[in-house]
Amino acid sequence: MLTELDLIPDGLLDVEATELWRHIDGPTLIHLKGRREPALFVSILMHGNEIVGWQAVRELLRGYAGADLTRSLSLFIGNVAAAAQGLRHLEGQSDYNRIWPGSELPVTPEHRMMQSVVDIMGRRGVFASVDIHNNTGLNPHYACVNVMDNRFLHLATLFSRTVVYFLRPKGVQSMAMARLCPAVTLECGKVGQVHGVVHARDYLQACMHLSGHPQHSVAAPDIDLFHTVAQVKVPQDISFGFDEPEVDLQLALDLDHLNFRELPPGTSLGRVRNGNAIAVEVRDERGRVVRDQFFRLEDDELRIRVPVMPSMLTKDRQVIRQDCLCYLMERYNTQVPSA
Ligand SMILES: [Zn+2]
Repeated sequence: MLTELDLIPDGLLDVEATELWRHIDGPTLIHLKGRREPALFVSILMHGNEIVGWQAVRELLRGYAGADLTRSLSLFIGNVAAAAQGLRHLEGQSDYNRIWPGSELPVTPEHRMMQSVVDIMGRRGVFASVDIHNNTGLNPHYACVNVMDNRFLHLATLFSRTVVYFLRPKGVQSMAMARLCPAVTLECGKVGQVHGVVHARDYLQACMHLSGHPQHSVAAPDIDLFHTVAQVKVPQDISFGFDEPEVDLQLALDLDHLNFRELPPGTSLGRVRNGNAIAVEVRDERGRVVRDQFFRLEDDELRIRVPVMPSMLTKDRQVIRQDCLCYLMERYNTQVPSA
């Protein structure tokens, strides 16, 4: 299922993400030799519609144009089939960023493929790991880490001063790779924004030039560190929409403007239909139901109970259905680990 190569196939760098399937046979791990070892590991297209990673890598490699890479690079191109359709994942297919070692989902052949990628990189040795994504709401560019470690926080702040620490969902690439090396997930804004591609490319370029990972703590003024405290989902049997009176949950029209804003208690995310119960499912990092800690109903308005900051709020219905409505975060700066 996994193809392993030690060169970029002819013509690959000329094609868009939707055309990769013509050149490579599904998920492909490409090892490129550079002047320094071990390799930087970069994964892209874990979500087939999030093409920023491919665009950034393509520009990075074009920039070297025959010259030696400053460091070896192992590139994992993930969901080529979903990319061909412009989808996060195909119907009936696993979400490629939920099936890495540590996943809580029922085991599929694709779980074993991700395990083999980690095993291969473990054997070869790896300098750092970067997994590149777009997202859908109005979010700033930010990096995520799953381990509180100064080396990881330095790698994250090289991308953005906004850093999110999370432990759920499980089965994500950065959590699996964290056992081997400092690992980050990059969120590079919406698909199609040129500055997302430029930012990701420049970041990769900077990583290719790093000689090591600083161990000292990141200075507090250089980081806005947030911790995910809950994930909010709309249950499958609840209908939802924007400006549609017939649905169970009427979401606020300016929903995606609330991302990365510290919201005061009482802020409404939407209305439930007359007299219905709270129409969201809320779980903390350990999977415990914590809905009533974060939400209350008042006159059918779904209101936040405590000060929190949401991320990933989107008006894309498919994303809300397939992934979640949002994550809730709290600020974490007092707990940046010291050296
Ligand atoms: Zn993604």
